[in-house]
Amino acid sequence: MEESQEDFSQYAEGLRKVRQRRWCFWSVILVYLPAIWISLTITQSDRATAKVFAVWFVLACIASCLSAFVRCPRCGNFFHVQGFIPMYLRSCLHCGLHLNADKKSGKR
Ligand SMILES: [Zn+2]
Repeated sequence: MEESQEDFSQYAEGLRKVRQRRWCFWSVILVYLPAIWISLTITQSDRATAKVFAVWFVLACIASCLSAFVRCPRCGNFFHVQGFIPMYLRSCLHCGLHLNADKKSGKR
């Protein structure tokens, strides 16, 4: 079967999961600066802010693991991990399946 003939809609469920995990990961990353700023403003305390940082750090670790170890619906390998290094690109590192492949095929 040719690449262009492939039915990407069969991957919709799996890709939706990959997108959710990525969204979760980037949200945690984006929340960092506002959280630290708000904590410093409200508490005026480095010690309290260090606790906020610790909580954020744990959440970031969990979110990065969740998004790193999500499986590609086409090839079954980890979508964002090749070897030991996670890379949060928009395509599968193994088979090249794009994050929005199911949406693109619907438009054509
Ligand atoms: Zn793949």
